[in-house]
Amino acid sequence: MIQKTFKTTKCQKSRHTEKNMFAGFLRCSDCGANLNYKFTHDNPDNHYFSCKNNREQNGLCKKTHHIRVDVLTDLVKNAIANIVRFATEFEDEFVKIVVDEDYKRIQATQKKNIEALNKMIAQDKELDTLCEKVFEEKILGHLSEQRFLKLSQKYEDEQFELKAQIKNMKKIVAEEKQHELNADGFLKIVRKYSEIEELTLDILQEFIDKIVVHHREEIMGETIQEVEIYYKMIGHIEIPKMSKLERESCIKEFRAKKRRANCLIQYTLQKGEPKK
Ligand SMILES: [Zn+2]
Repeated sequence: MIQKTFKTTKCQKSRHTEKNMFAGFLRCSDCGANLNYKFTHDNPDNHYFSCKNNREQNGLCKKTHHIRVDVLTDLVKNAIANIVRFATEFEDEFVKIVVDEDYKRIQATQKKNIEALNKMIAQDKELDTLCEKVFEEKILGHLSEQRFLKLSQKYEDEQFELKAQIKNMKKIVAEEKQHELNADGFLKIVRKYSEIEELTLDILQEFIDKIVVHHREEIMGETIQEVEIYYKMIGHIEIPKMSKLERESCIKEFRAKKRRANCLIQYTLQKGEPKK
């Protein structure tokens, strides 16, 4: 009897434990949290991701950042296929885009970080001087024991906190450096995949760092959802959009340019400099 009951009430494997290959790659553009994988039981076609902090969960995030898996798959597959094709066909142009992007990024973030770090180091030195001064004053008898202890404790606390901040900022600067965009590294991966026919977890792991999903918005009656793809080693890169015809003409132009670049005399002529 028990065995019979056990057989009939056998636990069904919960479909909620199913994993999706995008799990762990998606981030909410508002709160930075991961997006969770979900699907509706009454509509097995409706597989989607949404912010784990949305109203249904804890309400920390005001919007759902809902995105369907099929939409996402198409989008990411096309993006990777396009970047692979572009990087293969226009290697030099691709490297230029990555380098420009890197320059912009360094200008913005790294410069700010380094400035903050230098400021903190200067403050740390200032505190050293203050500590010495307090000690001198104490020796000269200008400060009472109580006042001396109070001041030196205050400076020590400040310096302790500052040293922790310096350590943390140094780490951030070093990490950013490590992330320095690496077009050659990315090209090595590209060479492994001449054609992206199907999106797999392996491909995602090779190419994708993270995917930032914005909330869908209605603009002039049109539904728009921004999705930013951050690639490994090269970050968020926008490659020029081209029609088939434009692409073909660019390939011709690009090859011609390459030939020209190889020829010094022609290159000098091209720049309009006098022929020697
Ligand atoms: Zn969110």
